[in-house]
Amino acid sequence: MADQLTIGLVLPDVLGTYGDDGNALVLRQRARMRGFEAEILPIKLGDAVPEDLDVYCLGGGEDTAQILAAEHLIADGGLTRAAWAGRPILGVCAGLQVLGESFRAGGRVIDGLGLIDATTVSLQTRAIGEITSTPTRAGLTADLTEPLTGFENHLGATLLGPGAEPLGRVTRGIGNCDVAASADVSDGTRQRFAEGAVQGSVIATYMHGPVLARNPQLADLLLARAMGVALGELEPLEIAVVDKLRLERLK
Ligand code: GLN
Repeated sequence: MADQLTIGLVLPDVLGTYGDDGNALVLRQRARMRGFEAEILPIKLGDAVPEDLDVYCLGGGEDTAQILAAEHLIADGGLTRAAWAGRPILGVCAGLQVLGESFRAGGRVIDGLGLIDATTVSLQTRAIGEITSTPTRAGLTADLTEPLTGFENHLGATLLGPGAEPLGRVTRGIGNCDVAASADVSDGTRQRFAEGAVQGSVIATYMHGPVLARNPQLADLLLARAMGVALGELEPLEIAVVDKLRLERLK
């Protein structure tokens, strides 16, 4: 790891509607509480995305805004090169959809970055509410043991291809897609209970909250990857208020 951890906050001006900027704050704070220097680098629409940052966070956004995000990130190429180099990337909701192969917005099918083998179509009814899931422990997330909690608010129905695994198996809420959206595919049950995606160094989810505030183990997993250490090597942090929040949200 470099002397200082740099957290890329990708397009907060267009993917900043749902409070997901908080994920970068959580990563910075959890690094600092352990005595590491950490800074957030906001990367705005039109800015080049540096390909050598330690970790990247993309948040949720409105349909029109996420079209702008996808177009810019594809044209720029920096985030794609960072993924190819194995740098950890967290995408939330619109961030998940933009990192996939394609999504629907503004009545059109829009190309995503193709970093996740996922296609997003539309739900019949917007999914809004609390969501919980059990980690699948796929790929990069093999060390996750704690249940995941968040808040979902989306109209996108995301179907995963064979290249991506779900982040969690839904125990409450909708997740990637509903019964109707998963009805026509051969692996409908896998799709119906899927939440988020894991592929290479990319972790994506529909969970707002912000997700890293509600799921400290997931935050530390990203932090550990960013620092090039194992999750178990990070000194544990006791934060009573986070434990209390999780107890309340997971009951
Ligand atoms: N606009 C997208 C949808 O409704 C993403 C929403 C979000 O990021 N919360 O599916």
